[in-house]
Amino acid sequence: MKQSMTFIPTLRETPADAEIKSHQLLLRAGFMKQNTSGIYSFLPLGKRVLAKVEQIIREEMENAGVVEMFMPALQQAELWQESGRWYTYGSELMRMKDRHGREFALGATHEEVITSLLRDDVKSYKKLPLSLYQIQTKYRDEARPRFGLLRGREFIMKDAYSFHASKESLDETYDRIFQAYSNIFERCGLNYRAVIADSGAMGGKDTHEFMVLSEVGEDTIAYSDTSSYAANIEMAPVVTQYEMSSEEQLSIEKIATPGQKTIEEVRQYLSVDSTRVIKSLLFKVDDEFVLVLARGDHEINDIKVKNVLGASVVEMADPNEVKEIMKCSIGSIGPVNTNVKVIADHAVKYIVNGIAGANEEDVHYKNVNIDRDAKVERYEDLRFILEGDPSPDGKGVIKFAKGIEVGHVFKLGTRYSEAMNATVLDENGKAKHMIMGCYGIGVSRTLAAVAEQYNDESGLLWPENLAPYQVHIVPVNMKNDEQKKLGEDLYNQLKDQGLEVLLDDRIERAGVKFNDSDLIGIPVRVTVGKQASEGIVECKDRRTGESKDVSIEELSSYINQLL
Ligand code: ATP
Ligand code: MG
Repeated sequence: MKQSMTFIPTLRETPADAEIKSHQLLLRAGFMKQNTSGIYSFLPLGKRVLAKVEQIIREEMENAGVVEMFMPALQQAELWQESGRWYTYGSELMRMKDRHGREFALGATHEEVITSLLRDDVKSYKKLPLSLYQIQTKYRDEARPRFGLLRGREFIMKDAYSFHASKESLDETYDRIFQAYSNIFERCGLNYRAVIADSGAMGGKDTHEFMVLSEVGEDTIAYSDTSSYAANIEMAPVVTQYEMSSEEQLSIEKIATPGQKTIEEVRQYLSVDSTRVIKSLLFKVDDEFVLVLARGDHEINDIKVKNVLGASVVEMADPNEVKEIMKCSIGSIGPVNTNVKVIADHAVKYIVNGIAGANEEDVHYKNVNIDRDAKVERYEDLRFILEGDPSPDGKGVIKFAKGIEVGHVFKLGTRYSEAMNATVLDENGKAKHMIMGCYGIGVSRTLAAVAEQYNDESGLLWPENLAPYQVHIVPVNMKNDEQKKLGEDLYNQLKDQGLEVLLDDRIERAGVKFNDSDLIGIPVRVTVGKQASEGIVECKDRRTGESKDVSIEELSSYINQLL
């Protein structure tokens, strides 16, 4: 492609709202442009990289026996009502009405659509297993769209769904797709880990997330310093064993704590360690209010609360609800003298003579001994794991790393086939719900993750597999006939050899051209300058920065060597 004919609007300045490298560079190098918050256009360069990511995904999916199809983004509300998610998905689901007032959603995901498509035609176990995928635009009205393509409101996903007559068949497909995902992220040149994403509901290794290790990742991975254990921090179980101190239990007493709201304020005011403070948070669990307790130095994990209570929606109660239920504000609530249901993290049981809110404005209790002074319905693992905790597999201690979730594989079971009544007849002619798996890859997020991992101070550094072009030819001075002609000749010659070539045929200053070229980050740059008349060009490896004068006869073999 000739640069004069395409659209690569490079920017000298870093856009103010772009906080991370990939976002900044993809904008500056003219790969994409923001339309509005969380919504982007892929410009010609970005589209080429995207197509390469998609091609790798297609090859690996087909290899794994998963077949491509394409479903609509516009989905009738009835489907989501059938599965129940119309009522539980919340504001992330974009909803709208047609001219007749019929409700629709813009697809955030496609479990409902695909289940409804298959249930009419797949009636016998003999037609299973069946695995299908699509690469398609998804819509999610994210609360905080940010980091460019990493968290968009409109983004591109590869989503696959598998259907089975037996659990063994699902396991087999899951393993095959797991391997395909590993190949995909490998081929994209990403430094990634597959981590356990859920150890709860379905038990064991039923869902994994593929995480690209990166400082800008929004997810935290808890991994063992000595074994291969790695899990999303949201899901890592805490197996710490606590010990009861031998300290004597004193009598409970009220103390004034004027203006002391947070754990830290209360702790300082009373000069005690945060491990002595009982943290109390009021949650709205489906339609019920539940007071959840943890030790002052621990964080409550609402996903664990949700799993333990088997709830579908868990939210923090808002300040007004707290006032209404507990008769005081958030900073003074506690488990003593309340009729609200109380559950607690295991560690709370071992606090001797602790501090807790007294459900009275600006008053706390001291010397709280939980089993003596309050009614705790259940002790469960409700907190986030911490660095230094023992690894759940019993080997080593936990450390943290940051990750970007690029893929997710999940054994759904019969969650959707039951809700939507998708059955097949088994060998004995008995109707059974199909067993399902689902498998997502954030295609546009993967592109951004690659950009995040491959860059330097001058710009992007595409791995050869994903680069928008393989060779960038830059004639220094297009007004010089010799340079112009040699540039164009080489362009045609390399293209004929099957290379993907971008020719900078713009009449621009050399400095501008070189800066743009570094910014775009094509692996090999061929500079056609003063030595054009002698048939010599400069060949530069963008990644190492090494350059070499090469005669035009040797050029193509030298390029092949570099690539
Ligand atoms: P996250 O925790 O990041 O919100 P998720 O659990 O909601 O992700 P899934 O529903 O599993 O994501 O979607 C499959 C894949 O789609 C994810 O692994 C991720 O790579 C990608 N993805 C999800 N949300 C977005 C988004 N807002 N922008 C870009 N990619 C996304
Ligand atoms: Mg999400």
